[in-house]
Amino acid sequence: NHTALTGRTAVVTGAASGIGAETARRLAANGARVALLARRADRLKDLAAEIEAGGGTALAVAVDVTDQDSVDAGAARIRAELGRVDLVVNAAGVMLPNPLDDGRIDEWTRMIDTNVTGALRIIRAFTADLVAAAAAGGTADLVDVSSIGAHVTFPNYAVYGATKAALTHLSASLRSELGPRDVRVTNIEPGLTDTELGSHIDNAALGEAGQLGTMFDTIGALSPTDVADLIVYTTSRPRHVNLRHLVILPTHQA
Ligand code: NDP
Repeated sequence: NHTALTGRTAVVTGAASGIGAETARRLAANGARVALLARRADRLKDLAAEIEAGGGTALAVAVDVTDQDSVDAGAARIRAELGRVDLVVNAAGVMLPNPLDDGRIDEWTRMIDTNVTGALRIIRAFTADLVAAAAAGGTADLVDVSSIGAHVTFPNYAVYGATKAALTHLSASLRSELGPRDVRVTNIEPGLTDTELGSHIDNAALGEAGQLGTMFDTIGALSPTDVADLIVYTTSRPRHVNLRHLVILPTHQA
């Protein structure tokens, strides 16, 4: 159904690659107008051009979710150019595993500021839009991309897992505030997915040439499309139906 989301206006963070980029493509293919947010402006421009060439509407907005001024400026531009937003996908994230006793406060800060506070900055910027869209009779969605790492423990992933547990809890708590106002909140927890996420790991033994690569080899991975399809599905349900918590794993992942 190529019109399931016609009339909707979406913001997708993390749209420069992976799950966010594919989600933006799929939302646009289903009729939504999409604002593309991430730091790499060149990637966003290319994706916006691709979406527009396919007949969709996309706006590339370079935003660093760890920078409040950047989020404020991005939100103002989105409102000016696309109007009220009724679909928000928080997919920006970083995963930087290391032994806790390495004490990498630089990595901890980056993960917390991106995965938790970054999501909060986006929620802060667009909640009023979501509530207004729902009050006007429309459908309104907040989708947070967490991780199965919110529940499963892996050595070296304590801080990443903690940020995702925080995001999962945040989604559940927010739902109790926004659900009564007809804004749906959906938390999605993917398992291993084939994206750029592992490329920033600063530890050869844990990275794509090490432990993470071995995981891909042994259990396989979801494609970003698998997750994006789920986001299209949940956001295109009738407005009284809220899939609140979705876990999606490669079949071989325990
Ligand atoms: P990618 O690395 O491909 O995508 C992450 C995106 O986040 C990029 O577009 C990146 O763009 C953006 N981003 C990172 N930091 C910032 C920032 N400060 N401000 C704005 N955007 C930022 O990985 P995935 O697609 O896998 O990751 C998407 C989400 O899915 C993440 O939250 C991740 O934790 C989650 N996830 C991924 C899994 C996997 O196995 N891949 C499993 C479970 C959850 P740019 O660098 O240009 O800013």
